[in-house]
Amino acid sequence: MIFRQIFDPTSCSYTYLVGNQYGREAILIDPVRELVPQYLALLSEYNLKLVQAVDTHLHADHITGLGELRRTTGCLTVMGEQSRCKLVDVRLRDGDLIKLGDLVLRAVHTPGHTPDSHCLVMRDRVFTGDTLLIGATGRTDFQGGDAAAQYDSLFERLLIMPDETLVYPGHDYKGRWVSSIGEEKALNPRLQAASSDEYVEIMANLKLAPPKLMAEAVPSNIALGMPPGGGENLTARDRAALVPFSGL
Ligand code: FE
Repeated sequence: MIFRQIFDPTSCSYTYLVGNQYGREAILIDPVRELVPQYLALLSEYNLKLVQAVDTHLHADHITGLGELRRTTGCLTVMGEQSRCKLVDVRLRDGDLIKLGDLVLRAVHTPGHTPDSHCLVMRDRVFTGDTLLIGATGRTDFQGGDAAAQYDSLFERLLIMPDETLVYPGHDYKGRWVSSIGEEKALNPRLQAASSDEYVEIMANLKLAPPKLMAEAVPSNIALGMPPGGGENLTARDRAALVPFSGL
């Protein structure tokens, strides 16, 4: 397995490159548009063909690289079936498998941060998007966020995984790269909530400012990270599928 974790210092996002060294095929998880040249250089360095670019959810804090990667590599774009982006090629449902030869990633629907949030489980690790972060959880105060749903996703879908499962989050703001289910269960302050109601209370009192790029990122990501309105990079099928943006 070829595995690389790539950090975007602007949004503190992580992108993951997973490749199969035998079939020379790869996927990217949560790519950032500005970093597409870096991903293309990595793919070329490892002699990998990008087959899929996956977003764990519709992002509000950076512009997705999905559209640009599809344009430059011809890869399939992938998001959860609940995504408000109508342009994706593949819509994941809970339990769907992404196969790269003998590497298999299983989609786990984990609504809460957004309705379309999915985690991806592969071998000894789980890519948790913004559902579970290191020492925190993804905010639930916009984009259809739902703290009670997130509590269920965390406790019924993620924390039941073996303690040694590696946790690779969608973000970290303090320079940490990886954690584990066991560490998060023991140390993550939000996971010490004794009930769903207590968790909802914690999430309701975070008082976070909106992400700096939200007003730009959400409408752009609904168009796969392409310029608002579609731009010349969209196919006729994409343009036909575009729906007018109507609020966050
Ligand atoms: Fe997010």
